[in-house]
Amino acid sequence: MQKILNFIGGEMREPIGGRYFETDDPSVGKPYALVPDSGAEDLERAVAAAKKAFPAWRDTPAAERAKAMHRLADLIEKNQDAFARAESIDNGRPVAGCAAVNIARGSANLRFFADEGVKFAGGKFKTGKIESYTLPQPLGVVATISPWNLPMLLFTWKFAPALAAGNCVIAKPSEITPMTAYMLSGLANDAGIPAGVLGVLHGKGADIGAAITRHPDIPAISFTGGTVTGRTIYAGAAQQLKKVSLELGGKNPTIVFDDADLYKAAEGAIAAGFSNQGQICLCGSRLLVQEKIYNEFKRLFVASAKEIKIGDPLLAETQHGPMVSKAHMEKVLSYIDLAQQEGGKILAGGQRHIVDGRCKDGWFIAPTVIEGLPMDCRTNQEEIFGPVVTIMPFKTEEEAVALANGVEYGLAASVWTQDREKADRVSAQIESGIVWQNCWNVRDLHTPFGGVKKSGVGREGGRRALEFFTEEKTVSRIA
Ligand code: NAD
Repeated sequence: MQKILNFIGGEMREPIGGRYFETDDPSVGKPYALVPDSGAEDLERAVAAAKKAFPAWRDTPAAERAKAMHRLADLIEKNQDAFARAESIDNGRPVAGCAAVNIARGSANLRFFADEGVKFAGGKFKTGKIESYTLPQPLGVVATISPWNLPMLLFTWKFAPALAAGNCVIAKPSEITPMTAYMLSGLANDAGIPAGVLGVLHGKGADIGAAITRHPDIPAISFTGGTVTGRTIYAGAAQQLKKVSLELGGKNPTIVFDDADLYKAAEGAIAAGFSNQGQICLCGSRLLVQEKIYNEFKRLFVASAKEIKIGDPLLAETQHGPMVSKAHMEKVLSYIDLAQQEGGKILAGGQRHIVDGRCKDGWFIAPTVIEGLPMDCRTNQEEIFGPVVTIMPFKTEEEAVALANGVEYGLAASVWTQDREKADRVSAQIESGIVWQNCWNVRDLHTPFGGVKKSGVGREGGRRALEFFTEEKTVSRIA
């Protein structure tokens, strides 16, 4: 079985305790690699290497840092097929989606933040005789903790702005999908990223993750993951007054008005509901459809959901792969059972799906559509994070907004209507960090990204991420 290693001080290192655990290929339902079960002693080693590297990296001109980051992006692109295949095996997303999204965004994140880092500068002010300027300065050794659902995309999204701003980073990928972070760490030396600037520690959240968040020499943690974990990290960080950025769960609405282009809206709602097997924080899991078009739209949506091609994620034509793990498949199936107990009617999917051949033991669930549930039931309130969409009718714009806002989460929403004024009115009223009009998951990396309510604290994206990873010092004098 392939052994994954930590990357510390520019070297691949075994965990000091010598312990490993298995990670699975979800498409075949079997372990395929060993992951370091890192502990506090590995963290000490990584922090020491990062502290040693920090002064030189901080003092390296941003344009030089950017060159190293662009070289790392070049190496991702050169190895794109190997990365996409590895991500697909590790995570279950079909290989075409891994190449087009997860891996392509890996290099795009590095390039984007490399260039943003060069532009990033303080301000100048003059009021009366007071002249001031500001210096955004890196924090030192910072940590990033990322989840399993878009491994390479989120791993790079977190650490790239930290590096660009002149910090050294200890990055912890998810223990469920560690492979592409490991592969990427193996390219850092070739890219010319100095030893210690990027450390990658593998292991379990409750062990190495918690140790990272407690470490007194790590003043900032950028976390993407579940709301429950985010709360634990927030509480721990408060004890030491650390900076935290929390990107958490979602329960996002897709709102379709009766004047929408129905075919485009159905296509968008399918992408929102089932991309990456519904395992994207931005997925639209609550489909709200205006009464007049409800039946027609439902027919279209359900028929399209049934046409999604489920299968071996390594085949180019596959659209829908397995759930990331057995435990996660069981969690999602338990929510489908719950939905039926709560009075929901299954219109599509609704069970484990068996794929013939190589993937016969894989952890697949067919795209599932459920009708007839009230907004206040658990199925409509809790994040399921799988290929499960509930569909329900609404009468008026006010009702649509009330239903959209009737959950504890507030990450993203999509609104489908040909009436621009209505789209803007509804966008302004929806309680979420992001609203898409007649599209879904369209991303300009300059724009703020983050959630309200239980979906997160703070904003990433563009210069906001660079601001998070710096402290801005004000210098004033009398002219
Ligand atoms: P998770 O919270 O279980 O784990 C995320 C990361 O945190 C992993 O690396 C894990 O090892 C680590 N971790 C777990 N416990 C920890 C602890 N006590 N201290 C420190 N680190 C710890 O999340 P997951 O299941 O990997 O990911 C799915 C969740 O992530 C979903 O809720 C999804 O909505 C959310 N998510 C949010 C965004 C966003 O941008 N808002 C993006 C992707 C995923």
